[in-house]
This record gives sequence, structure tokens and C-alpha cells, in this order.
Amino acid sequence: MGNPKIVINETKFKTNVKRAIEICKAKNIDVLAVTKGFCGNRRMAELYAEAGIKNFGDSRLDNFEVYKDIPGHKQLLRIPMISEIPRMIELCDSSLNGDLDVIKKISDYCLKNNKKPHEIVLMVDLGDRREGVLPEDALKSAKLISEMKGVKLIGLGCNFGCYGARIPSDETMKQFVEIQHKIEDELNIKLTHMSGGNSLSLHMVWENRMPEEINVLRMGFAMIFGTEDMYRQTIDGMYRDAFRCEAEVVEVDYKSSMPIGACGIDAFGHVPYFEDIGDIKRIILAIGKLDTMFDAMIPYDDKLKILGGSSDHMIINAQDSDIEYKAGDIVTFALDWGSLLYLFNSSYVIKEFEK
Ligand SMILES: *Cc1c(COP(=O)(O)O)cnc(C)c1O
Repeated sequence: MGNPKIVINETKFKTNVKRAIEICKAKNIDVLAVTKGFCGNRRMAELYAEAGIKNFGDSRLDNFEVYKDIPGHKQLLRIPMISEIPRMIELCDSSLNGDLDVIKKISDYCLKNNKKPHEIVLMVDLGDRREGVLPEDALKSAKLISEMKGVKLIGLGCNFGCYGARIPSDETMKQFVEIQHKIEDELNIKLTHMSGGNSLSLHMVWENRMPEEINVLRMGFAMIFGTEDMYRQTIDGMYRDAFRCEAEVVEVDYKSSMPIGACGIDAFGHVPYFEDIGDIKRIILAIGKLDTMFDAMIPYDDKLKILGGSSDHMIINAQDSDIEYKAGDIVTFALDWGSLLYLFNSSYVIKEFEK
């Protein structure tokens, strides 16, 4: 098969997923497995299911369409667009929400079309400043939602570390479940789906710091990379290298590190900066910014240094490497979220599954 490719080790990935399920199950928490990073790759959803996942989350309806026949609860993670409500009702059991106008439209649609009430998880913004109602508005919002007949308020959700890079704390989680209790008491309803965060919150589970009310975690990163977003250390019993990227060397040269001539702008409109470190041995790989995010590519050969590149080329300083690279050789990279997204999304990148 050709290059470049993203290689998925099925055994390692499923081991990570099973381990996450085990860590959470000990605290009565269900893992809602996030598929959005795989950009609608069906085999990835199958692997989740084979590892025991029953709840799936994605931000895009197109991805749910790909695996709609795989049984389980499907939750839309991005606040629904009003224009996608009819399709969402077909594909999803629940959705995360933060805007009352949107929720009203969902309710109206379900009533008008005789659909069973769509399940709503109301997001509460505990500080990361992406989606969700403010804590002081949560009760009022919950009351309005509970009066809408075409939807069912099943619980609350919170999220950290995405926009504002905020870290969950004991105080914010306490505040979160206090909001739950207040809503349950005042409105006399039960909130059975308490979605306590993403991978960044997993450490709170094994540190026994997650309030017992929390019964769902939405998780992608931790199971994909076997690391905790927060400490970036490999989680006990998981693998960091379930996913890797392989790209092919197309040129090995020896050139000045400093380009020659007057400096304009590069292919992406930026004025680049170069450090003059004399003549260096370089390798050029047939993978570019169209295929991956360079900042999120970590060469297995830690003596290689990514210098930059363009749409279709990656240029690497190989001066210090012990390996004599030549055209046709493969350079392997560990991945991070950004590169995983790009690689799965690029139709030029082969997706190779190994047992
Ligand atoms: C993407 C996403 C997640 C998953 O985050 P990870 O860091 O991959 O665990 C959870 N919740 C929401 C709302 C998301 O959009």
C-alpha cells in the first residue's frame, strides 16, 4: 500500500477503550465514546463497539450517518444548528444544548412531527467560556425546558479545556452538582444524565474526586492517546502508540539552513523566520499541511526536527540523527489531537488497520 498513512493498532486501541470503561465503571460512570476525531471512519466506531462502548458522541451528523446501524445511544456534542434539527432527530437520541431558542425549535419539530421527545442535556458553563448557560441562569433555563413538551431534559453537562483551557476543580464540580440538586428539588424532576466533562476530567475519577452524581464522561482523547490531557502521562494499562503516521522520504539533501534571496511571504501568507545554523542535512517527506498539522507530529526518531513545509512537503532537519535516511525510507510519527484530525480527514492519507 502507498504512503502517507495513519496506522491504527486495533488491539492497543481496544485495550485503551476497555481500560477507560473499567476505570469509569468502578465509579458508576458510563463512557460516552467520542468519534468526531475519526471524521466518519466506520471501522473506528466498530472498534469502540467491539470494546464494549454503548454510548457514542460526535459533533457532526454526517459521521453518525456512517455508523447509524451500530446500536447504542447517539449524542450530538455540538449545539445543533436549527437547520439540522430534522436530520438530528433521525440520527440522534440526545444532544448537548445551551440556547433556549434552539431547544424550543427542537421541541416544536418533535411535537409537529409526532416524534418522541428528544433528550436534552443542558450545558452549564463553569468557566471555559464555550457553550452553555451560566450557573446563575441554569435553574431558570431548566424550568423553561421542562415546560416544553417535545423535549425531555435528561441532565446537565459541563466541559473544560477546550476554548478557555480551564481545568476542572473540586469547587467547580461541587457547584455543578449543586445546580443539579437545586433543579431537581425546585422542579421536582430527576436528572439522570450528569455529564461531567471530557478526557480532561478522567483523572478526577481515579483520584476519587468526581462527585458521585456524575454518571457520564464524554471521552475521545484519553482512549485514543492513552494519556490524560492534563498530565500527558500514559495512563496505567493504556498505550500511547495506538495510532501513528508513516510518511515517505522523497529527497535527502545538504543545504544552507538559511534560504537565499530577498524574503517575501511563504505559501500561506506568512513571513517566515529562519535561524542560520549553517549547512544541514535535510530530508523532505511527501506529506504536507494539507494532510496534517505539523505542530502535532512527533517523530519517533527524536533527533529529527521539523523545520516547516508547504501544502505537500514536510522539511526536516536530520543533521543530528543517527539514521542514514535515503529516498524511499519511512519516517514514523506519534500523533496528537490536531494531527489525528487532519490525517483522518485527508482523503490522501491511507487508513491502515493492523491487528
Ligand atoms: C470533543 C468533545 C468531547 C471529547 O473531548 P476529549 O478531549 O476528546 O475527550 C467532549 N465533549 C464535547 C462537548 C466535545 O465537543
